[in-house]
Amino acid sequence: MATDNSANRARYDFKKAMEELRNYRGRGTELISVYVPPGKQISDAMAYLRDEQGQAQNIKSKTTLKNVTGAIDSIMARLKTFNKVPEKGIVIFCGEVPRAGDQTKMVQYVIEPPEPITAFLYRCDSSFFTEPLDGMLVDKKFYGLLVMDRKEATIGMLAGTRIQVLKHFESMVPSKHHQGGQSSVRFERLIEIAAHEFYKKIADNCTTCFLDKLMDLEGIIIGGHSPTKDFFYNEQYLHHELQKKVIKPLIDTGYTDESGLKELVDNAQASINDLQLSQEREMMQRLFREIRKTEGGLDAYGEADVRRCADMGAVDTFLISSQLRKFRCTCQCPNGHTFKVTVDDPDQTVKCPECGSNAKVTESKDLIDDFFEMADEYGSNMQLITPDSEEGGMLLKAFGGIAALLRYRPE
Ligand code: ZN
Repeated sequence: MATDNSANRARYDFKKAMEELRNYRGRGTELISVYVPPGKQISDAMAYLRDEQGQAQNIKSKTTLKNVTGAIDSIMARLKTFNKVPEKGIVIFCGEVPRAGDQTKMVQYVIEPPEPITAFLYRCDSSFFTEPLDGMLVDKKFYGLLVMDRKEATIGMLAGTRIQVLKHFESMVPSKHHQGGQSSVRFERLIEIAAHEFYKKIADNCTTCFLDKLMDLEGIIIGGHSPTKDFFYNEQYLHHELQKKVIKPLIDTGYTDESGLKELVDNAQASINDLQLSQEREMMQRLFREIRKTEGGLDAYGEADVRRCADMGAVDTFLISSQLRKFRCTCQCPNGHTFKVTVDDPDQTVKCPECGSNAKVTESKDLIDDFFEMADEYGSNMQLITPDSEEGGMLLKAFGGIAALLRYRPE
């Protein structure tokens, strides 16, 4: 079974890096952010940093001076490893951040942004400058949007939190109050024909906008005036593949222009959240059903049990809480024993399970990343579960955030 978790993982890693970067605060003005756009020469960026290195000599505080020049050195060393700037640019964050007690530690993040960055930027501040990366999308998933009445229609898309207008057009449907000299029956008939043509036009435009992106289309949200939008939906004007993607209920909006799209997204937020949660919920309910089976269901929970099953290649899907904030560390003790352990903080003291002496952490990685790697190794699926649903909350509380659905029950 070929399973590609790479998009999920990229999204997780990027979100987590952003979360961490936003939380760091320097003791002084000493956290450095460098954005190098595609097309910029590495040598130009290096020259700029050397210049900043020179300027830094004016800093009065000795500690800040040391930290700033240290961070710039570290960034230059990292930049040097690139022959050229990657396709979408490169962003490096570096600086000393406080850790337990009076200590600080240097952190460095090298990020290839999911979308191209546009300008070179150097910042030295008491926090990292992440704004240009905010709202960038790691994957291409989006919602189709349509607001309509008999007079106009606007088609758009929602990706992340960004709303983009794709098409806006007005109809030729005459107003009902404008009868001219015609008989009212004949006039009614003309209106219906014009409306029918307009709905077909809306549907055709939706096809143009969305049909070749079905893979990334999470759903279509329809809004506008009643009963027009309901008629449009019930009569199935949309291409049948798109019709299947319509998210119920349809949404009433006061506007059917660009501002209607915004109104639509605001009013549909609950449905969008539900949809995103429904897959997670479904997986968790499958887990609970397996657990309830008396004759050994296809479930595993708790880190030790899940690892044991994973090592035997028995895991079909890892169900991991996105709230897990732990580390998987490789450790070595003075007597030469090496072992792996999961800890809350990689800086904490770890005792060797064999001889009890204090061991040194030689490598540490994010626990969720560790599960992503296991999923790749065994061709398992990886489902991150947010704590936003009741089931997701239970995963975290009852199972320590780690469970799995199995392919078979290992002995
Ligand atoms: Zn030992």
